[in-house]
Amino acid sequence: MLSVEQALQALQQTLPDNKPATETVPLRAAHRRILAAAPTAKTDVPPASNSAMDGFAIAFKDLNPDGIGTLKISARQPAGQVPEKLAPGTAVRLFTGSEIPPGADTVVIQENCDYDNAQVQIKSRPEAGANVRLQGEDIERGQSLLQRGRRLSAVDIALLAAAGIDAVNVYRRLSAQLIVTGNELARPGEPLQAGQIYDSNSPMLQALLENMGFTVALKRIADNYADTVSMLLEAATADVIISTGGVSVGEEDYIGKALSTAGKTEFWKIAIKPGKPLLFGSINHTPLFGLPGNPVSALVTFCIIARPFLSALQGDEFYCLRHWPVPAGFSTDKKIARQQYLRARLVGDAGGRLFAKPLAKQGSAMLSSLSDAEVLVRIPSDTLVREGDRIDVIALNELLT
Ligand code: AMP
Ligand code: MG
Repeated sequence: MLSVEQALQALQQTLPDNKPATETVPLRAAHRRILAAAPTAKTDVPPASNSAMDGFAIAFKDLNPDGIGTLKISARQPAGQVPEKLAPGTAVRLFTGSEIPPGADTVVIQENCDYDNAQVQIKSRPEAGANVRLQGEDIERGQSLLQRGRRLSAVDIALLAAAGIDAVNVYRRLSAQLIVTGNELARPGEPLQAGQIYDSNSPMLQALLENMGFTVALKRIADNYADTVSMLLEAATADVIISTGGVSVGEEDYIGKALSTAGKTEFWKIAIKPGKPLLFGSINHTPLFGLPGNPVSALVTFCIIARPFLSALQGDEFYCLRHWPVPAGFSTDKKIARQQYLRARLVGDAGGRLFAKPLAKQGSAMLSSLSDAEVLVRIPSDTLVREGDRIDVIALNELLT
């Protein structure tokens, strides 16, 4: 049985050498896509120096030594209007976002002035250069923005837009074939027959994969060997196959058996709890993750094992969710030989210090606690935890970014 670390190393070694093909997409379609080339700023940001406040633009040298004085207002300069040169010894009325008139270098905020339409009395001395956002202070024209392999966030898109970029070169979208096994499964909306439970893995995995930018197709199959083999062969036209259920050692578990006929098994079973029966292999070069059927096991193995590989396949890095050190708000009384993940919340003590507190329901089929959890606490194999120990957690909301 591989450790989690060994499984991640094995996955890294099976990654293809080539990145996916690339395409250019408009910025509005670029959210969560992965940059194939770093864009270059088409303009300085800001493109010209402008005012950070409502007030009056002046040349600092025009002020008396005490910085207080009265200046004639020579122009009014709303945002979006091209400024004229500042007449020496005068002030220009302007507003947040107004371009600074040539010859001016300082903005005095209106709260520090007495003014009418004709003149302004400056009541307190400004700093030279105050309240001016300088041309290019944020981004310089020609500067390379973001990096190849970057998964574009909403803020990244704002950054690119500000720099005048309207299209980006990204890796093509990969397709995922989701295969859901289990004769007991009914679809939400269908009446539940005796012996059935609702399928919760497919909506969860579909959402997780789509959130990563995959296109997702879904097939349900009955628990039998022949159908499973032909389904796996059919699915190999996708870029990646993700199955759930049917990977354990039960007589009705067919994914492992079918994979050894239809393709190649890289590893099966890892020392993780929940999620031990995780299967990884390939069919005609299409990687396959066989996730366990229990919903929490499926989620944990997806996050910890499959997701880094899937990210790298898309052109991103082999990105493991970050672990944050937090004090344990609990103790354990026995060691287990697998790396364990507990559903937990962060709870503050009276001093505002945060502790990780596991939720009560830790059964691997229990979704209510998974939905309540903020973090997964990692307990390394053969480790006892004492209250107050530093332990590592991953933030479940990072799955959504
Ligand atoms: P299996 O790995 O097929 O033995 O399934 C393990 C457990 O997960 C069983 O209790 C199944 O009923 C349950 N399970 C399997 N697939 C799903 C699914 N798609 N949604 C919810 N529970 C499932
Ligand atoms: Mg099953």
